[in-house]
Amino acid sequence: MEKTRITIARGDGIGPEIMDAVLRILFAANARIDIDEIEVGEKIYLSGNTSGIPDSAWDIIKKNKILLKAPITTPQGGGYKSINVTIRKTLGLYANLRPVRSYHPIIPCKSPNMNLVIVRENEEDLYASIEYQQTSEMTMALKIISIPGTEKIIRFAFEYARATGRKKVTCMTKDNILKITDGLFHKIFEEIAKDYPDITSEHWIIDIGMAKLANSPEIFEVVVLPNLYGDIASDVVAEIAGSVGLAGSANIGDEYAMFEAIHGSAPKYAGLNKANPSGLLNAAIMMLVHIGQGDIAQLIENAWLKTLEDKVVTYDIARILKENGITDYKEVGTREFADAVIERLGEEPKILKPSKYPPIKIKIPEIRDVRDTKLTLRGVDVFLDERKLKPSEIGKLLEEAQTEKLKLVMISNRGQKVYPTEITETLLTDHWRCRFESDSEITHKDIRELLERIEAKGLNWIKLENLYYIGDKRAYSLGQGQ
Ligand code: NAD
Repeated sequence: MEKTRITIARGDGIGPEIMDAVLRILFAANARIDIDEIEVGEKIYLSGNTSGIPDSAWDIIKKNKILLKAPITTPQGGGYKSINVTIRKTLGLYANLRPVRSYHPIIPCKSPNMNLVIVRENEEDLYASIEYQQTSEMTMALKIISIPGTEKIIRFAFEYARATGRKKVTCMTKDNILKITDGLFHKIFEEIAKDYPDITSEHWIIDIGMAKLANSPEIFEVVVLPNLYGDIASDVVAEIAGSVGLAGSANIGDEYAMFEAIHGSAPKYAGLNKANPSGLLNAAIMMLVHIGQGDIAQLIENAWLKTLEDKVVTYDIARILKENGITDYKEVGTREFADAVIERLGEEPKILKPSKYPPIKIKIPEIRDVRDTKLTLRGVDVFLDERKLKPSEIGKLLEEAQTEKLKLVMISNRGQKVYPTEITETLLTDHWRCRFESDSEITHKDIRELLERIEAKGLNWIKLENLYYIGDKRAYSLGQGQ
């Protein structure tokens, strides 16, 4: 059968040891792969390349399209860009998949029936890392949620549920507060759910949803989340399963995919033959499914589960077992653990349920093109840096500056309306949002005229945000108290 050529990166710290263990298992199981190796990470960073990835590595990553990556050490000190973020963004890996399950009763777990997959949006949200310091006192980050980005991740979650025989998809947002950004994510979830009547869909507000995930993870199957909540939820559920050494993750795009363990390079264990290779092995299992080798994935997973059942474990799992009063385990090193898995290829676990791996090839349907939506300019938020004046004094100057078309509606500080009704209790900073609205469409020229008049009053504007309507609907949030 034809082989798939993949790229591997051995990484830093414990990376080379766990990669070696995983490759030995893959080849012993006759995985139909050939490998090309690239060097990324600490050595490349320290040679002066702040991205940690040389151009030659990009060529190979792009040619092979599939990357199995061991963890990387990010050197101390600023200026080094995260390899993971760079790879995700460069290759358009919009979906981060993290399956987490319980291995109870072998590894005791307070949620013995937990078996869920976190589907985290991987490119947008606060991870766009668009941040500014705007005044002496104020910093700001932009949370970006797009219609096409959201449609893709939500369709992916439903298609993934269908392909893996899971029956429920849960979405979590904070749309009671973030009505436009999280509100869009929730709205698109509800719309797309209608195309999957065979799958139950539900939405939770993130705070109670996250508490439920921590307390009763067994009630969830597929959970789809915007980037930041997904990042947090992934770690919460991985922690419940036992060791960070167990879970793998997949970063999937339309053309490329990257597979890795969820843990880092654990430098203090480097070279000691102690680290658990299971996280990277589980990532490799996901990779095999992705490239259509579900048969090999299943063979390896069964052997790995049987190894756990036989209580052949690395130090991290040994510690958990000991803490739970279990003593009949055999603690082994990284290499010996891989040997134990290889010895069990062809065996099946008796207690732990093996995963059933259908040959998943997720193809998401075409997403809508909404680029001709008409936005009507109806106002502007002018942000000021002003340290001395009171809200009433700023309000007076701005009312003098307002134009025939653009009238001052309110001023807010840290999102709280402080003018026209003056609020004395709230902490006031040097960063003021001054909202001007019109009852009909305006142009950029109207905004320029307003800005000139504001400047003439000696006020320092530092940022603008245009205010649009879509049809008769406001496309911006109201100020707290407006
Ligand atoms: P870490 O995950 O590397 O290690 C934290 C602790 O978890 C370790 O001390 C160890 O006790 C345990 N641990 C982790 N992996 C294990 C394994 N396979 N087997 C057994 N025990 C294991 O986190 P850290 O110490 O915060 O980060 C170390 C370095 O890794 C940093 O440079 C960080 O930037 C990097 N990092 C890389 C990635 C990645 O490449 N995807 C992810 C996270 C952190």
